[in-house]
Amino acid sequence: MRAARYYDRKDIRIEEIDEPQLKPGHVAIDVAWCGICGTDLHEYLEGPIFVPAHGHPHPISGESAPVTLGHEFSGTVTAVADDVSDLTSGQKVVVEPYIIREDVEVKPGVDYQLSPDMNFIGLGGRGGGLSEKIVVERRWVHPIADHVPLDHAALIEPLAVGHHAFVRSGGKAGGVAVVGGAGPIGLLTAAVLKAEGLTVFISELSEARKAKARETGVADEVFDPREVDVAAEVRRRTDGRGADVGFECSSVPVVLDMLLDAVRPAGVIVNVSIWGHKPAVDMPKLVLKEIALLGTIGYANDHRRVIELVEDGKIDLGPFITGRIGLDGLVSEGFEQLINNNEQHVKIIVDPRA
Ligand SMILES: [Zn+2]
Repeated sequence: MRAARYYDRKDIRIEEIDEPQLKPGHVAIDVAWCGICGTDLHEYLEGPIFVPAHGHPHPISGESAPVTLGHEFSGTVTAVADDVSDLTSGQKVVVEPYIIREDVEVKPGVDYQLSPDMNFIGLGGRGGGLSEKIVVERRWVHPIADHVPLDHAALIEPLAVGHHAFVRSGGKAGGVAVVGGAGPIGLLTAAVLKAEGLTVFISELSEARKAKARETGVADEVFDPREVDVAAEVRRRTDGRGADVGFECSSVPVVLDMLLDAVRPAGVIVNVSIWGHKPAVDMPKLVLKEIALLGTIGYANDHRRVIELVEDGKIDLGPFITGRIGLDGLVSEGFEQLINNNEQHVKIIVDPRA
């Protein structure tokens, strides 16, 4: 089968590799669509980061570069191991793409995303969504209803990232949220917040991204920080109180400043973005307002709820797909597009058979 293999920085090859073999406790899946993620771009431009460098095998997967890429994918079950009784061939699924030690329990109440040596399928080994087929442990395979299109379903993984950030914030229906940055994760976090019944304000500079935030309906209002004082606008709309929860989705220091200003006293800010540097944080403001500034990584027990939101039509993922390509175009039409035209794109998804 064909697969996109990460060898090293700026060295991704489309290759013919052996098909993965089904084993006990596992499920074989034909990949339908796989999204390209900011993490993949970082691996391409600055990596290896999550990818174990050649000769340095990951402690759980035992693999090192080259590895197959792709962790945001949907597909159809083609076979299940004899000891798997609750999934059948032909079922549509998405994968929660974790590489986590076998003895870590995966159930509600367990922060399994924080377990030692956690990594991701499609980065740390175990195949990836940028190939025609994959074999995955049963516990990471989530069935989806037949009426959910498989191209939309490829966005369930990044949507789960937004959902986990929402859960971390403690935000409630009827509350007010400010999202700093309308890139892919900002938009998908906003989509979750809106679907969960919060009022959502977005701060964004880019014209294309502002337009996307408006057109997808994920924001009640979109503010351009060059035109208005975003925190003041949020206070004006909340009887002077400020937002209950804020989400940092830009890794830009002034956005973090804005959020510290825009949330109410005792408000919560969740940092969703990955910072390449250490920003200065206005600690006096954090202290005087008793703001809780929280981290979030990946997801844990979020997929069920996210799938429900999509199945029930509370979130329409279609408008977030801005490109569809085949595997051969992965670098030229995928990575390079996202690097050079990143404001025009939310998600480019890849058909590994095309
Ligand atoms: Zn990702």
